Amino acid sequence: MNRIYFDHQATTPTSKEVLNEMLPFFTDIYGNGSSQHYHGREAGKYIDIARRQVADAIGCKAGEVYFTSGGTESDNWAIRGVLDGYKDKGKHIITTCIEHPAMIKTLESLQKKGLADVTFLPVDNEGFISIEDLKSAIRPDTVLISVMTANNEIGTIQDIKTIGKIAKENNIIFHTDSVQAIGNVKIDVKEMNIDLLSMSAHKFYGPKGVGALYRRNGIKMGSFMTGGEQERNMRAGTLNTPGIVGLGKAIEIATRDIDKNNKYVSELRNYFIKEVESKIDNVYYNGTKSDKCLPSNANFSFEFIEGESLLLRLDLAGISVSSGSACSSGSLEPSYVLLATGRAIELAHGSLRFSFGKNNTKEEIDYCIENLVKIVQDLRELSPLFLKKKGENKYV
Ligand SMILES: *Cc1c(COP(=O)(O)O)cnc(C)c1O
Repeated sequence: MNRIYFDHQATTPTSKEVLNEMLPFFTDIYGNGSSQHYHGREAGKYIDIARRQVADAIGCKAGEVYFTSGGTESDNWAIRGVLDGYKDKGKHIITTCIEHPAMIKTLESLQKKGLADVTFLPVDNEGFISIEDLKSAIRPDTVLISVMTANNEIGTIQDIKTIGKIAKENNIIFHTDSVQAIGNVKIDVKEMNIDLLSMSAHKFYGPKGVGALYRRNGIKMGSFMTGGEQERNMRAGTLNTPGIVGLGKAIEIATRDIDKNNKYVSELRNYFIKEVESKIDNVYYNGTKSDKCLPSNANFSFEFIEGESLLLRLDLAGISVSSGSACSSGSLEPSYVLLATGRAIELAHGSLRFSFGKNNTKEEIDYCIENLVKIVQDLRELSPLFLKKKGENKYV
């Protein structure tokens, strides 16, 4: 069967160009980047190049980039590191209620143990926080403001520059989870006053299991992984040379091609939205239709339908999409992100995220629409609520 992949916000394929860069580092240039001999120095040289590639992409110094195992680790480290580094000032953290579970679960667990005191800012119907809410949440003991650049479920892009400015004026550390944003949103950490930033290679056509944390020089932080002296004594563990080389190449390509890819992918996405809205009734777009949305993202609630059933039927037709975030799918809880935007529980249950990528085509979208129209129709014919609304339900 011809398989179609519309789940690029869960992960992307590693591009051939990136893979080819990585391959020699498994077999030929295998030295431990921390060793002083020839083999170590060779590996170290390419790790330095990757560090420079990451730095150039976000406008920081190479020495401000720390390699990690991915977005989850970078998020954990940012939170725990700042709590550790600024414990004399306090333990109050301001964040949003639509952060990725890597943030939310970490904060909730710290809060439960009494190690953090967290304010979760609400969002409006399109997923934006209010700058006024942010300002009034600030307290003398606030050590960290953490607001994701772009949301993984609905794609909403926050006003990071303004948030960074407020953090700076109030002398508070500002972290942003840019895992979804890198390659889609132009980031300049200096201009946006970002102190800490999380990224993950597999979200921008790089390999899985490698990411980075940008830490502005001077930000006080404890290390997260303890052990050897890698990463300036801040993150122990033998460096994942192939992964790091892949991350560097992937971010270089993603930054170079950002305008081209955004244009191509958003055109596909806009065409998809137009088709869904013109061919299917009782469907609700989630998020914002302004340009403050990831170009790849289209999230819809289909009334009278379970997102999970729709996902499985699309899968049978060869189309991979997501209901909620990959981390919570499989659970029967409706998406907390959609609930936060004010979606009713029934509609939140009936939602699907389609996320497109640079290798998708218009033909794939047409095939998807054709199937989606039929499947939605089928599933609704089985729904007592739908039949009742149509006045055709003999049983209700
Ligand atoms: C995917 C994702 C993460 C987690 O990144 P991993 O590299 O998979 O650990 C964190 N935050 C956001 C917004 C994400 O989309």
